[in-house]
Amino acid sequence: QALEVATSFSILGDLVAQVGGERVKVRTLVGPDEDAHAFQPRPSDARGIGSAAVVVVNGLGFDDWMTRLARAGGFQGKVVVASEGISTLEMSREDGHGHDHGHDHGKDTGKAVDPHAWQDVANVRRYVANIAAALAAADPQGAATYRAAAARYDGELQALDAEIRAAFAALPAERRKVVSSHAAFGYFARAYDIRFLSPVGVANNAEPTAKGVAGLIRQLAAEKVPAVFIENIADPRLIERIRSESGAVVGGTLYSDALSKADGPAPSYVRMMRANLATLQKALAAPER
Ligand code: ZN
Repeated sequence: QALEVATSFSILGDLVAQVGGERVKVRTLVGPDEDAHAFQPRPSDARGIGSAAVVVVNGLGFDDWMTRLARAGGFQGKVVVASEGISTLEMSREDGHGHDHGHDHGKDTGKAVDPHAWQDVANVRRYVANIAAALAAADPQGAATYRAAAARYDGELQALDAEIRAAFAALPAERRKVVSSHAAFGYFARAYDIRFLSPVGVANNAEPTAKGVAGLIRQLAAEKVPAVFIENIADPRLIERIRSESGAVVGGTLYSDALSKADGPAPSYVRMMRANLATLQKALAAPER
């Protein structure tokens, strides 16, 4: 009988499936192209999670609702925090998002920790190790299988990380900046040295201020940002407005907080990172003369 594992969002669901393979049955609350920041659980969701053998969350304030839901459903085990042990990133005003930190990130410490750690492949290697350890603890008979799957997948992640670095290596400094809807790419920016500006902060649920958007449009022009990007989980209208007011080019769609559906270009974590890389590379390549 398969080990039942509940996860909060699609990217995490894929990581658990990569490690767990046929031994696990993964139930994911927030599906492809859906926004986990804005997720409103139904009472029936709690019942489904309460009976899971393992509950895996991202942590860092991204999906606290998942832990509350699991407890409400009667789950008594230890909730696995996939991001445990990563080097976290604090939000800075530098990232250009035009609203105050009125949302609940980091309310315990007074600092805003960026939860989007999966946008750095090195962090996801840690996620995978944490998931493998948790599955092995819950299902000791499968421990060797989980370890082997995690090792194989870790090799894939290492290659992916190297591929992204190599692809961006030739990009000149003045092309290394973009605008996306919400501040989801801080870890990507740190790892791969691409600067992201966003009208909306990390939580993706605050309305950007008019002043913030106007400031961003000025910055875009002043710094000659090559392209702006829509996100798969965000309303494209804000980016469309920024495009029309700044004259910037829309470089395509980036996958920030969710995978695509199975027939889309980003149905798994590895394919999501490759899809984002291809989209960024195309838009940021120096223009032909
Ligand atoms: Zn987000």
